[in-house]
Amino acid sequence: MQDNDLDGNAAGGLLNEIFPFEMTAAEAICGGCGTMSPFGALMLYQHGMGAILRCADCDTALIRITHIRESYRIDLSGMSCLRIASGIH
Ligand SMILES: [Zn+2]
Repeated sequence: MQDNDLDGNAAGGLLNEIFPFEMTAAEAICGGCGTMSPFGALMLYQHGMGAILRCADCDTALIRITHIRESYRIDLSGMSCLRIASGIH
């Protein structure tokens, strides 16, 4: 592991800035292997312009977040489904 490899809980601050509710408890279904994982259990790879959250089982990139100037670009194409509990706002 490199120093910038963390688990998804470390992305909590970034996710909270984008989504106005607790996202580390949201669940993603991996488009690569079908595993359902809470965001907090994903593997976080941070880089200069953003972050990538990967499946802990098969390493598929589920969420790519890039921060360019005043906006976030979020690529969710690696996940087949995003599950967010209702009533958490
Ligand atoms: Zn997977």
